[in-house]
Amino acid sequence: MSAKPALVWFRLDLRLADNDALHKALSSHPAVIPVFVWAPEEEAPWAPGAASRWWLHYSLIALEEELAKRGSTLILRRGPTEEAIRSLAAETGAEAIYWNRRYEPAVIARDAEIKRRLNESGLAAESLPGNLLWEPWNLRNSSGKPFQVFTAFWRACQAMPAPPSPGPAPDKLAPPARWPSTLQVSDLDLLPEIDWAAGLRETWQPGEKAAAAQLNAFLEAKVAAYPADRDRPDHRGTSRLSPHLHFGEISARQVWHAARRKSDASEPFLRQIAWREFAHHLLFHFPHTPKEPLRPEFRAFPWQFNAANLKAWTRGKTGYPLVDAGMRELWRTGWMHNRVRMVAASFLVKHLLIPWQEGAAWFWDTLVDADLANNTMGWQWVAGCGADAAPYFRIFNPALQAGKFDPQGEYIRRWAPESQPPIVGHTAARARALAALARMMDVARESR
Ligand code: FAD
Repeated sequence: MSAKPALVWFRLDLRLADNDALHKALSSHPAVIPVFVWAPEEEAPWAPGAASRWWLHYSLIALEEELAKRGSTLILRRGPTEEAIRSLAAETGAEAIYWNRRYEPAVIARDAEIKRRLNESGLAAESLPGNLLWEPWNLRNSSGKPFQVFTAFWRACQAMPAPPSPGPAPDKLAPPARWPSTLQVSDLDLLPEIDWAAGLRETWQPGEKAAAAQLNAFLEAKVAAYPADRDRPDHRGTSRLSPHLHFGEISARQVWHAARRKSDASEPFLRQIAWREFAHHLLFHFPHTPKEPLRPEFRAFPWQFNAANLKAWTRGKTGYPLVDAGMRELWRTGWMHNRVRMVAASFLVKHLLIPWQEGAAWFWDTLVDADLANNTMGWQWVAGCGADAAPYFRIFNPALQAGKFDPQGEYIRRWAPESQPPIVGHTAARARALAALARMMDVARESR
């Protein structure tokens, strides 16, 4: 055990249980100083959106409370991150810093540079596995390449050794001889000025404790019915863990082991957790995909950007009740059911021919679970240009989807009860989308 304190840099791991970086610091230093650095410009162009900032505000407060119970304090600083870390190390005499990895391309580049420079200057910097079940570089297909098909990826996951069992939260965190100064969470200005967030407050409880309660409640009451209910936006049949998982208030390993302990019935649910893992695998191995289609022929897709139609979609005023209900649920609660995400996203890229990147950007700003890996994969899947994607020519009919997945119209009545004329007709929009696809395929053939 060293005689000097260590810094633990919290990022998308806002929890005390099953936190490798915290555990490592506690096991090798007499005191730890938990740190959060707000530096959104370092994550550009994917700095957290408005809904994510709202979540972060409350999640940081929850983390402060958990730390205070254990005699510790969260030190908040503004970026640049490297400067903030260096000055904290100088003020506290810390000789090491630990953090759990993140996998977004801009963050990997930033973190690698920070680690190299800190190590060079004598502050030992070490990163540990982040909030995934397995590191993305440890899963490869039989030809040694990254996976691009989910079923093969899932089979490979099932053949992997079980992820390490999650560790408990520490009972106590030994404080340093002197606490450095800190900002308050409110100094970070994370909350929106307009009162759009009232619906978020009514819907969500950020923080580690709430995440654990949410997981337990789901495993107790809902996991068995999940296969039948997960596609029904009119039922509350899914776990709603996505923002908690994104912010690392609960780890994928905790979810995995708790679900496995519960019963065999949890397999379909764990398959969805593996979709999350797959999304991170794709983002890690194909870092250009938040901007560019994975399938290069889609670069020539003849999109037709139309500002009025984009606005109608964002406001939930397309005249397609299921799409409008989803978009309003999103605006009001920062979340949308997965089935409705698929239908609303498909409507934007197929019925309106608006580039998927526009839709991804709106989701990025308004989802409390906005996650670069999951959002990118979700949009590319819908647009037909990603890994294992839905073929572009399969065009959801929003009315049929509503009949199938919201058969009594309860979900629609809840979010978009009034009717209005559609901004495009389904049959004509479908024909136009298929013609656009044919044009793209002609371009691809000619350029071969
Ligand atoms: P559950 O059904 O309870 O699933 C449990 C967990 O598994 C989720 O919390 C999530 O972490 C993971 N998961 C489930 N389905 C998927 C999936 N299809 N892809 C990846 N992970 C999945 N999810 C995000 O977390 N952030 C996003 O930004 C995001 N954007 C999306 C955009 C589009 C266009 C689409 C079609 C899907 C997107 N998803 C995104 C995936 C999915 O809709 C949400 O993860 C899910 O609705 C969250 O609800 P839940 O926690 O109740 O899910």
